[in-house]
Amino acid sequence: MSSVAVVVSERLARYGFGDGHPFGPDRHAAFVREFAARGLDRRVRVLEPRTATDEELRSFHSREYLEFVRERSARGTGFLDAGDTPVFRGMYEAAACVVGATLSAMEAIMHGECRRAFVPIAGLHHAARDHAAGFCVFNDCGVAIELLKRAGLRRVAYVDIDAHHGDGVFYAFEDDATVVFADLHEDGRYLYPGTGMAEEIGRGAACGTKLNLPLPPGSDDQVFARVWPHVTAHVAKFDPEFIILQCGADSLEGDPITHLRFSAQVHGRAARELAAVAERCGHGRVLALGGGGYNRTNLARAWTAVIENLM
Ligand SMILES: [Zn+2]
Repeated sequence: MSSVAVVVSERLARYGFGDGHPFGPDRHAAFVREFAARGLDRRVRVLEPRTATDEELRSFHSREYLEFVRERSARGTGFLDAGDTPVFRGMYEAAACVVGATLSAMEAIMHGECRRAFVPIAGLHHAARDHAAGFCVFNDCGVAIELLKRAGLRRVAYVDIDAHHGDGVFYAFEDDATVVFADLHEDGRYLYPGTGMAEEIGRGAACGTKLNLPLPPGSDDQVFARVWPHVTAHVAKFDPEFIILQCGADSLEGDPITHLRFSAQVHGRAARELAAVAERCGHGRVLALGGGGYNRTNLARAWTAVIENLM
């Protein structure tokens, strides 16, 4: 048994907003080329994604929002939000497949078929329970967390190193102490979505379970090295039963829409150290989700570094 599974499928490439859009359908192929070039396809268990059911999507999203996406998807024109997320025909099915890919990987881990897994294209952390945002239609991270809670887990950790704040996950679980959250991102004063201030630490019973670390534009590997230990310490403190890593590659230097300057080594270190935390928790469960990344070379480097460091 390989300890790591990776979802690879042309079906994931259908989730894209057209050629020329930063989130184009070519992102999957850019990843797969590097994945094969490094021989990773022979060293991991390759999984096919399934499609998430409506009931699974409803664990996170409102019924009204799902109907809205279904209707727009059939029509195939316009936007789901104020202008970031254009509609394409078949969008509902493509987005449900991204969620299904995350669930396939999550189930492989929970059933003991692998210890850790990676899913490209997934990690759509901006989608809220009742609306789309920032290229994100359905929030696969949120659905996975809801289903892990239904399965009886009492602590699920979500760590996010994408350049953008994971607002769709943060605000959905802001008052939920089950969800341990840690997110380092470019300061919201300089980058979409403008949230994730250090004072945002969770509400009510969840106060203190959330860690937001906004970084100034231009932050590099040295800045990461200073703040990252706070993330691993925060996660380890709560002894989570499952760890999700949203490893968006748009925090690498050279991304066309952000201003952080990490190298792919940051993504590799994040994966390796969270895997170590998960081992110390006694289960080893880490699910890494690709997230953003709009420079194709960068996403290929960062995501393969994550897989190599999960092995
Ligand atoms: Zn991003």
